[in-house]
Amino acid sequence: MNKPLILPKVYSPKEVEDKWIKFWEEKKLYVADVNSKNPKFSMVLPPPNVTGTLHMGHALCFTLPDIIARWRRMQGYNVMWLPGTDHASIAVHNVIEKELGKKGISRKDLGREKFLEIAWEWKDKYGRLIVNQLKKLGASLDWSRERFTLDESFSKAVRKVFVDLYKSGLIYRGYYLVNRCPRCETVLSDIEVIHKETKSKLYYIKYPIMDSDEFIIVATTRPETMLGDTAVAIHPKDKRYYKFKNKKAILPLVGRILPIIEDKSIDMEFGTGAVKVTPAHDPVDFEIGKKHNLQQIIVIDGGGRMTEKAGDEFKGLDRLECRKKIVEKLQEKGLIQKIEDYIHNVGHCYRCDTIIEPYLSWQWFVKIKPLAEKAIKVVKQGKIKFIPPNWAKTYFEWMYNIHDWCISRQLWWGHRIPAWYCSKCGEIIVEMEAPNTCPKCTSSEIHQDEDILDTWFSSALWPFATMGWPEKTPDLKKFYPTDLLVTGFDIIFFWVARMIMMGLRFAENIPFREVFINGLVRDFRRQKMSKSKGNIIDPLEMIKKYGTDALRFTLAALAVPRMDISLSEERMAGYRAFANKIWNASRFVLMNYNQEKLEIKQEELTFPDRWIRSRFNQIAKEINQSLREYKFYEAAEKIYHFTWHEFCDWYIELVKPNLKKHNKTSLSVLVKTLDGILRILHPFMPFITEEIWQKLPHEGISISLAPFPKFDSSLEDKEAEEKMEKLKKLIIAIRTIRAEHQIEPKKKIEVWINIPEEKSKSLIKNNIEYIKTLINAEKIEFKTEFPSEERFLRNITNNWEIAIPIKGVLNWKKEISRIRREIEKTEDEISKLEIRLNNPKFIEKAPSEIVAQTEERLIELKEKLLKLKKNLSDISIS
Ligand SMILES: [Zn+2]
Ligand SMILES: [Zn+2]
Repeated sequence: MNKPLILPKVYSPKEVEDKWIKFWEEKKLYVADVNSKNPKFSMVLPPPNVTGTLHMGHALCFTLPDIIARWRRMQGYNVMWLPGTDHASIAVHNVIEKELGKKGISRKDLGREKFLEIAWEWKDKYGRLIVNQLKKLGASLDWSRERFTLDESFSKAVRKVFVDLYKSGLIYRGYYLVNRCPRCETVLSDIEVIHKETKSKLYYIKYPIMDSDEFIIVATTRPETMLGDTAVAIHPKDKRYYKFKNKKAILPLVGRILPIIEDKSIDMEFGTGAVKVTPAHDPVDFEIGKKHNLQQIIVIDGGGRMTEKAGDEFKGLDRLECRKKIVEKLQEKGLIQKIEDYIHNVGHCYRCDTIIEPYLSWQWFVKIKPLAEKAIKVVKQGKIKFIPPNWAKTYFEWMYNIHDWCISRQLWWGHRIPAWYCSKCGEIIVEMEAPNTCPKCTSSEIHQDEDILDTWFSSALWPFATMGWPEKTPDLKKFYPTDLLVTGFDIIFFWVARMIMMGLRFAENIPFREVFINGLVRDFRRQKMSKSKGNIIDPLEMIKKYGTDALRFTLAALAVPRMDISLSEERMAGYRAFANKIWNASRFVLMNYNQEKLEIKQEELTFPDRWIRSRFNQIAKEINQSLREYKFYEAAEKIYHFTWHEFCDWYIELVKPNLKKHNKTSLSVLVKTLDGILRILHPFMPFITEEIWQKLPHEGISISLAPFPKFDSSLEDKEAEEKMEKLKKLIIAIRTIRAEHQIEPKKKIEVWINIPEEKSKSLIKNNIEYIKTLINAEKIEFKTEFPSEERFLRNITNNWEIAIPIKGVLNWKKEISRIRREIEKTEDEISKLEIRLNNPKFIEKAPSEIVAQTEERLIELKEKLLKLKKNLSDISIS
């Protein structure tokens, strides 16, 4: 006979995790075969920023698709899950410029080339960090296909898309008012600006009317922009200002003469109803300026400093310093009528939270409407499905109101815009490769556009550019469109929508069939995690403490569609205990198993064997269904309860007598059920399941390639399930008596049962050995009535009367006084709580949580009291 394979007494996740991460990668288990005949299932990983370190959002967004990838792979699909990282322009600039800043160097001192050198060095050194953390999570990615958005082939795809869109008129260069972050020193697209309610001031400034003693008063939140005013505007129907029609105002501090113009877009309710017009620094004014042919004077530069045009006194000042100075000057001259507190929405940079400046400049834009129309259609037609479906509404709302997308950025780390300018004739040349001469005037004095593209422009190409587009690669043919994308709702506009538009245009198909939008990870009070609140739960720390499997299981169990995830360490500790439970159950199985050949003979199947096989079969069916619907929480909950409360609590106990009798069929059912549980658990808990599975009899090199259990109608045994339910109830009822009367576990008892129906009697008779073992009874007898002279402990279940003669089990006198004491104690506590709850001061002053707790406790105690009284009357002879 072989020696049993043994698991160590204690499960230590770290060792196990390191071992299998290495094994899976070395054996290339998750490298997809482009020639496989199996049905394919493909996904692309949302590429984390190279600057990133793993946070809970990542952990969730990588665990959920990994569950699906592992499940599909075990179902026999040819799974291709492509990983990679994003170059993240602004984030990398932030990191490096901060470092440079410490040495007192700005990026402009360094120059573009040197800066890029440092950026690449930085990327090579730190860009692996997030990748290694991803591996720690157990994500079964195809690392042979790893991509980076600045790879040579990816860059080629980006240039091709830019040139194509330009040549078909969907990319253009224009002089517009755009959003600029003075700190990041770049413009941003509209969705990169976060509008926040901000406390500020509204300044009422008097502008003198030319050739008169009168003033027209304008209200503004940004007085510094007045240096760039080129008009004052009123609503044509505003009677208050009829007298100023066709007059002119004089710009204070500057002396510029401003026409007073009429425009229907003026809001008569705002401020005084008259406004200053600064076409170069306000989007509404920009439009008014175009209509009325006003001059655009730029007084604030891209870094938020006042320009030469602001005048000698102000030039070089920061915009906010300038604001102070201007207000002081105006006050000295008596030109401030009043200053009011004012709350309004102010745009902030989504990367660094600095207040955005509207900025007039030449930029590149994508004319997005024609692309959006097709992208709306495919979702309307159901070719792309959002899960949960209500997210489609959010998508449509944005797509219907979409604005042209500003894609140029004044940064260096990224894809440089493939546009060149001829210094001689001004021709713009947009090509994949740098031209040598100007095609129009043949001059060789040409220079490339200094700007780079929005990082999101390249990420929009992720699903097809990663597969080798524009070449017609076998990967594209096999794996595009992908099947599923799992991502957060916060990037539906930034990323999901743009991938759909670009995929349809360039890869001639949708990029994915389903988009699963996961919730936000919050703390256990449902608050957003943030550094300032100090409530961040670090996934790497949790992995250290509880193991990756426990973290993954927690995230899956909390992933309820449409709900944010409220995470607590307790939950994780709970699933760590679950891992221990599985470990210990497996140790038990392995200790009883000497690697003999497993065999199930129908005639040898015991009742518990039939029951557990039927139950497992049912669970396998339900879990496949839950995963098909991406109900991660439901699948996790089911396998948890089955493993713990059916397999460990019941079946392992029931199988013990059969193992003693060397019933090989029961042993086989035990081993096979454990094997099945491990397979179902594997997508959720890849490490512990691999470790245990390798010690069970198996075919193949990894559980991750073993077939996933599925429903088999021949194993269904409803009769066994029904009977087992009845027996479980009986056993629980007897265990309850034991617990309530504090009968020592070792003490053997006698049980009398009064059952009206014969059928149930035979159920008990046939399983008497199991029942006796589980309740530690030496005798179970059927009685139609219980003799009145005897004392009993009683309970009722399934309509069956149960009685345990007290003789030989407990000293009844002692038990009566024990229960009486207990009753007194309970009554005492009840009356105290009632006094407290009847005290109006307590109700008024105590926190509502405490009041609720007290009320709950009172209900519990009252229930306990009833039970105690019943127990007392049961054993007291009347
Ligand atoms: Zn910024
Ligand atoms: Zn030229």
